[in-house]
Amino acid sequence: MNYHLRIDKSQGKEVIGMLRRLSAMDDNYDIMRTGEHLLIPVAEGKESSASEYGELILLNGKPSSRKPRPEGIKGSYDVIGSIVVMKKSNVRDPVSLSENLLMRPGIRSVYLDHGVQGPFRTRKLTLLAGEESRTTLYRENGIELLVDVEKAYFSPRLATERMRVSDSVKDGELIIDLFAGIGPFSVLIARNHECRIISIDHNPSAIGLLKENIRRNRLKGTVEPVLGDSGAEVEKYTGVDRIIMNLPHGAFPFVSKAMKSLKRGGTINFYEVNTVAGIAGRMSELRDMGLTLKSKREVHGYSREEYMYSLELVKEV
Ligand code: SAM
Repeated sequence: MNYHLRIDKSQGKEVIGMLRRLSAMDDNYDIMRTGEHLLIPVAEGKESSASEYGELILLNGKPSSRKPRPEGIKGSYDVIGSIVVMKKSNVRDPVSLSENLLMRPGIRSVYLDHGVQGPFRTRKLTLLAGEESRTTLYRENGIELLVDVEKAYFSPRLATERMRVSDSVKDGELIIDLFAGIGPFSVLIARNHECRIISIDHNPSAIGLLKENIRRNRLKGTVEPVLGDSGAEVEKYTGVDRIIMNLPHGAFPFVSKAMKSLKRGGTINFYEVNTVAGIAGRMSELRDMGLTLKSKREVHGYSREEYMYSLELVKEV
């Protein structure tokens, strides 16, 4: 068994460069092509860092095999600290895969994910192998996060995007993290910048974990956790430099309220799952509201036809 990262061909150059910088590529194996995807061999012990850039896939080949066959793909999953979360639809034989995964160093529990649901965007999980323990410590981009994989939303797949946003923040900014969850955007940005961040979420468990994550990390800036509805809370602020809107299936209805709080020239980091045609329509609606598109990125694939998009928007008037 060895591990490969499945990515879109179009992202090959960028991701391979990133993996090489992290020494996360296993040069004993060749990169393979399957349709529109590349399968990049991942160095042992680097699975967690590599999984930030695509789907981690277990290939069924002898360790000595230099060219494992794509037919051996058994499934893909997210590694969050000591916990593996696998999606049913991506796994042919979840029980065998989970038993294999449990043999990996540091993995204590393997869960099957029945999907994100409800207003808190939480996951319904069942234990496949290992111990019933849904909390874990997860490290990304130099911060440490306490994660409860069941009680509050968290995904490691946005790690690169979070770093990109943090890199574009300037000291002194007033920021609202409108759907903050356990705080991966807020904590990272405040770790790197002297800024003030208002972090809103209506899930009490998410806010509890956020408070713990503020405590765990040495922050340059301040993070103020707010338990409440983002629509009602955002209206309490004016002159905001940046609003982060990571609610990929429902952020758009909050844009007009967010714009009232945003100062002229301020930035919205907007996330949405959509099709290619759908995001074009959405960009046109955002333009009509007075927002200029500064950048658009496909962060990762979501389904056969949908992608997670990152839009950086500036309020012109
Ligand atoms: N930003 C976090 C991250 O990157 O991991 C969490 C994103 S998660 C997709 C969306 C979060 O928004 C959830 O934690 C959910 O509880 C919260 N949420 C959804 N609707 C909300 C609302 N109307 N007011 C406050 N929080 C909301």
